[in-house]
Amino acid sequence: MPPYRVLPALIATALAACTHTAVPNASPSPAGAPSGPTKPEATEYYSPVPRIVTPGATNDAPPSDAIVLFDGTNLDQWVSAKDGSPAAWKVGEGVVTVVKPAGDIQTKRTFTDYQLHIEWRIPTGITGSGQARGNSGIFLASTENGQQGYELQVLDSYNNTTYVNGQAGSMYKQYPPLVNANRKPGEWQSYDVVWTAPRFNADGSVASPAYVTVFFNGVLVQNHAQLKGVTLYIGTPYYKAHGPAPIRLQAHGDPSDPISYRNIWVREL
Ligand code: MG
Repeated sequence: MPPYRVLPALIATALAACTHTAVPNASPSPAGAPSGPTKPEATEYYSPVPRIVTPGATNDAPPSDAIVLFDGTNLDQWVSAKDGSPAAWKVGEGVVTVVKPAGDIQTKRTFTDYQLHIEWRIPTGITGSGQARGNSGIFLASTENGQQGYELQVLDSYNNTTYVNGQAGSMYKQYPPLVNANRKPGEWQSYDVVWTAPRFNADGSVASPAYVTVFFNGVLVQNHAQLKGVTLYIGTPYYKAHGPAPIRLQAHGDPSDPISYRNIWVREL
């Protein structure tokens, strides 16, 4: 055995013998590792200290630094995506239900990178099939005056076949969900999303693309997926430069009964 392999073995033996002085987690550098600090303190630091955030009473409840976008009582944080008029979806019994003729609604605030929690429910007795069965969606950034964006699909995919990159939990027509974690109609479901907005250079070219991670009912369905641009019904995704953007909820024109949302909050990152 060449000397550079013998030496770490000797150190390991020596450390193992020194039971009273051994440092937890201390181990000799493996052969081939770059040379570096030799004391544990050299790789420990104490500032900046992570700020304190008080969690909600449950993991669904907004933590102390969340911006609550819908708490069950009103749509004060939302407007019509079409013209900025008051959001005209129906609020009652702690939930908001899509009013399809009113069109999409979007947040008054704009966001860049964030963590989002949102819950949705397909009505019991939902009818239709494919894309025409409880279709809605969450545009993680609403762009081009509410006409485009990056859609996390909402659909009844409990027992409903459609193209897989258009089922619930997909990034529409770009990435199917890793698994189908749907609950059945009538039950509340949740998305927990980490959104990293795209960045653009001064000339409009992409400096870094958008990334998204999604947990669907607590199950990972999008793992740092790199988007190819806005999500399109027809055509090839593209990027068009934008800044901070609203979050938009889709009023899809399919004839099935409208779905509901509740407990929507966001943490800016
Ligand atoms: Mg949709």
